[in-house]
Amino acid sequence: MKPIRYTMIGSGTLVPDIERGAAAHHLQCGDIHVLVDLGFGTLRRMTGLGLSLNALDVVAISHRHQDHLADLLPLLFTLRHMPGERRVEPLALIGYPDFGADLDRLEYIFGDWVSEPGFPLDIWEAADTPVEVERDDAEVNIDAYPVVHSPEAVGFRITLGVAGREVIVAYTGDTEESEEVIALAQEADLLIAECSVADGLQVPGHMSPRAVGRVAAAAGVKRLAVGHFYPSVLALGWDEIERRIREAYHTGPIELGADGMEIDL
Ligand SMILES: [Zn+2]
Ligand SMILES: [Zn+2]
Repeated sequence: MKPIRYTMIGSGTLVPDIERGAAAHHLQCGDIHVLVDLGFGTLRRMTGLGLSLNALDVVAISHRHQDHLADLLPLLFTLRHMPGERRVEPLALIGYPDFGADLDRLEYIFGDWVSEPGFPLDIWEAADTPVEVERDDAEVNIDAYPVVHSPEAVGFRITLGVAGREVIVAYTGDTEESEEVIALAQEADLLIAECSVADGLQVPGHMSPRAVGRVAAAAGVKRLAVGHFYPSVLALGWDEIERRIREAYHTGPIELGADGMEIDL
C-alpha cells in the first residue's frame, strides 16, 4: 500500500534547542512530497531524517516568522547548486497573503536566482488556494485558512489521496484559540496543533494545552499531534500536558511531538 505519512521535522520554536528544531512538517502521499513550514535548521534536520530535499514537490509557508520560513532561501540555493544533482522538476511554493511581494524583495537583495533557481517555481498565495498537485494515483489538495496570530498568518487544510484512500490533515501554524482554527480543523483525520505555552502564561497568538484540547474537541478531530513547544509548556512534563488536553478532548489519540516523529495515516 502506498504510504500517506506525516513526519514532524521540528517540534520546537525560535528558542535554539538541540532536541527540538524550529517548525517544519513533512507529508508524503504516494510519490508526492510536501513540506509545510521550514524554520531555521530544517534542511539539516531533514537530511538527518533521510528526507530528500530534491524530492519535494510543494513547500507551504504559514507566516513570516523566522521559526517558520528561515530555510526558504537556503532550500532554493541548495536545490540550485547541489553538486551532482540537477533539479528539473517544478516546485510549488504556497505562501501567506503577499508572499509574492516578499519574494520580490528577497530577489532584489539576493539576485534573480530567488525566483529563477534553474527549475520552474510555481508561486501561489493563500487567496489562490486550494492548490492541487497530482502524480500517478496520488493527489494532494492544499487550502489556506486565516488564523489569529500575525496579520498574514494562515494554517493549511491538506487533503491527501492515494489509490482511492483519502485523509485530511489540518495544520494550525501559529494561532490562538479561535473560531478560525476550529473551522480549519473540522473533522480532520489528523490535527497538527501548536501548543506553545503553559495555561496561565498565555500570550496572544498562541495556544496552551487546554486551548488545544478545546479546539480539537470542538472540531471533532480524529487524532491530534502537538508541537511548537516553548519552555513553559515543556516544563509541565508530558503527563501534565496530556492531562490538560484531555480535559476537553476525549475521542482520539494524542501524539506529543518530537523531532522525527512519524505517523502513518
Ligand atoms: Zn509565529
Ligand atoms: Zn512559531
